[in-house]
Amino acid sequence: MSIYDDFGLKPIINASGAVTRLGGAPMPDAVLQAFTAAARESVPLDELQGVASRTIAEATGAEAGLVTSGAAGALMLGTAAILTGYDLGRMERLPRCDGFPYELVVAREQRNGYDHAVRAAGAKLVEVGFNEIVAGAGVRRTERWEYEAACGPMTAGILYVYDPKTQPPLAEVVDLAHRRGLPVLVDAAGELPPRSNLRSILATGADLVCFSGGKAIRGPQATGILCGRRDLIGPAAVQMLDMDDHFELWEPPIDLIDKAKLAGIPRHGIGRALKVSKEQIVALLTALKLFADGAYLAELPNQRRWLEKIASGLKGVPGTCVIHQSADDESLSILEIALGKASGKNSALEVCRRLRRGNPPVFVGHGLLHENKLTINPLHLNDQRTAVLVERLREELSPQ
Ligand SMILES: *Cc1c(COP(=O)(O)O)cnc(C)c1O
Repeated sequence: MSIYDDFGLKPIINASGAVTRLGGAPMPDAVLQAFTAAARESVPLDELQGVASRTIAEATGAEAGLVTSGAAGALMLGTAAILTGYDLGRMERLPRCDGFPYELVVAREQRNGYDHAVRAAGAKLVEVGFNEIVAGAGVRRTERWEYEAACGPMTAGILYVYDPKTQPPLAEVVDLAHRRGLPVLVDAAGELPPRSNLRSILATGADLVCFSGGKAIRGPQATGILCGRRDLIGPAAVQMLDMDDHFELWEPPIDLIDKAKLAGIPRHGIGRALKVSKEQIVALLTALKLFADGAYLAELPNQRRWLEKIASGLKGVPGTCVIHQSADDESLSILEIALGKASGKNSALEVCRRLRRGNPPVFVGHGLLHENKLTINPLHLNDQRTAVLVERLREELSPQ
């Protein structure tokens, strides 16, 4: 029995991994216990974020950090901090930016749906470069001079969507930005593991970095991390925290918020709509510790075994199974089921649809449907779910 049955909803078998649409990653028991324990008592949220800042700083090497409502929340708050600093008037005006720099330069090939969060803070994205390789119309990627040529009096910073293969590399973009006194905001939401990225992305000198808390870290789905420069994390914190207090009484942690830079206490900021609860903060910090200590690595052999079980269980039905081992020794392996030239009712798209509509509903990875492939991510699997998954896949892959 599932709690969802009580609400008339059938729980699914999630073979897609930590995707938001399907509820994110499975939280370990220690994280769930931390969540419940945190709910039983009260603490001032700014002081708890002060503790979070120190914990995140330790894990990432950043000066300071903030638990946000997700990586998208971190992008919005990081942008807000870049636009306003500790300027009370600017904080009050967001997302209107009349009269101050509000442009963030971004490579056109890095544009994606999550940058709506950056625009929602009030920034205007100024695109540089082209996407010629994807267009089949050229051989070059975005170049340094293109960033440099786009920076002007209205430029507030640079947005960079991290990937180890992105050109120019982050360190070079940081260099050209810092020569102009501009900050770099990095979306690294899904770039964990490897655990080394917790530190190495910031080590390029990047000013602010965003991570998801609900992906590989396996914290609550609606958490994320914003980390980096203390003089930017502070303005991000005051624009998210509830500000209903008296300036004379307000004593925020000095290593998180520099009260001396504020002429008064701001009203609720643009990030007040992205608030994070004490339970989420404590659970995320607990998960971050587990992740950073490598506690999840012990699960890799079982996760691999489930994929092997599926591959061997599918012998004799159409489809070629290949298990892709991760390059970094820390990421999960992924099983690809290639359906070759199968079309119509036997195409990957149709099999995917029938699996979702079945009983129990099964959601396989759909990122390679255009290659007529299904993918299986083992993050949410166990022995029992694996057995059901094999049965459902055999039924739907057998010729209709
Ligand atoms: C997942 C993802 C996000 C959003 O992260 P949330 O924690 O769900 O808000 C943003 N950017 C990229 C590149 C992502 O992969």
